[in-house]
Amino acid sequence: MSVREVRVAWPGPRSGPSPEAPHWSDVAHWMRPGTLQLQGLPPLSLYIHLPWCLKKCPYCDFNSHEWRDPAGTTLPEQDYLDALRADLEASLPLIWGRSVHSVFIGGGTPSLFSPEAIDRLLGDVRARLRLDADAEITLEANPGTFEKDRFRAFRQAGITRLSIGVQSFNDAHLVALGRVHDRAQAIAAVEEAAMAFDTFNLDLMYALPGQSLADCEVDVRTALALAPPHISIYHLTLEPNTYFAKYPPELPPEDDAYAMLDRITELTGEAGLARYEVSAYARTGHQSRHNTNYWRFGDYLGIGAGAHSKLTFAHRVVRQVRLRDPRLYLERAAIDPVASVSEVTRADLPFEFMLNSLRLLDGFPLQDFMDRTGLPLSAVQAGIEQGVAKGLLQRDAARVWPTTRGIDFLSDLQSMFLFDGSASA
Ligand code: SF4
Repeated sequence: MSVREVRVAWPGPRSGPSPEAPHWSDVAHWMRPGTLQLQGLPPLSLYIHLPWCLKKCPYCDFNSHEWRDPAGTTLPEQDYLDALRADLEASLPLIWGRSVHSVFIGGGTPSLFSPEAIDRLLGDVRARLRLDADAEITLEANPGTFEKDRFRAFRQAGITRLSIGVQSFNDAHLVALGRVHDRAQAIAAVEEAAMAFDTFNLDLMYALPGQSLADCEVDVRTALALAPPHISIYHLTLEPNTYFAKYPPELPPEDDAYAMLDRITELTGEAGLARYEVSAYARTGHQSRHNTNYWRFGDYLGIGAGAHSKLTFAHRVVRQVRLRDPRLYLERAAIDPVASVSEVTRADLPFEFMLNSLRLLDGFPLQDFMDRTGLPLSAVQAGIEQGVAKGLLQRDAARVWPTTRGIDFLSDLQSMFLFDGSASA
């Protein structure tokens, strides 16, 4: 599915896998003494990656693979579900006894999988994990896979929230983006989602090839006319290693893009969708709980090809990445699905925390920083003071949050918490 609701940009492990790391699922190893003192465990989410798409979009840098089978055979659903189950079972010791706050099935195009397959997947998850009674369970859906009643069947399979990758309602722009759906399919998909689900998200992109401010306004008004309780709106960026990076299309000037974002925020506000994160707008009670957990530096277990995990233990924060290649993942899931494991160093923790938490317009409680990094406030004091002095941050005794200017210059603000490792965090 196009721009995921959330991009957890991770600058990569500074120190690489810890030299003495035994097997990635060896809890005793992760529970051994360490320099961090983490008081408690943050909420835990489960991310499940389904990596196939009908067609690779030219701007996409996600771990998505075109399902091309000249023989016309269907997706290897059952084999992939077996692999996910094996991966989850092997991971259970790392999250033993913890309940799961939210589940997000992302891709790729998860709605390519049949409702029966999604039903089996959630059955496998529920048989092995304790989900909160009101756990939010999101599935990403592509309007190009929309068929009447398909979304309703996902609802019956246990999905509670749909995230629909519309991107635009303008057929010319959809063609320019290499999308497999058109305006009519997008509208039909959203209308069906509105009938079948109590809450859903609609993805849009702006600053598209050939898009004017007026075009962007038409897209946003079309979206708002469908009364979505949540919208995620992303600036098209030319990501490395994509077709667009190699053959860049002509994009609107940056000033136009800024004007588009201002107009988007005005129109969504007028329609009762409050901006709560850099790219997310929601009616009260419809904020994405799964993504908010990422942004609050919560924990998540990621299973499936290329999925990322971030898990907290008493004395360390550990990241894992699954094998990216779906064929390799299918082959090795029951043996060892993990491609890399690393501990987040003391020097990296402040930046990683701010990379997520400063995306939220209400920022973070200072206590959360200490609880979720195991570091004292002195580790970020200088950065906070610098941010306040530059008018990018505001604070009170208990909380720190970005100003409007801080959100506009978020990368500059976040980089104030990048340490060169010399100053002890
Ligand atoms: S539908 Fe397009 S943008 Fe979305 S994951 Fe697939 S290739 Fe990427």
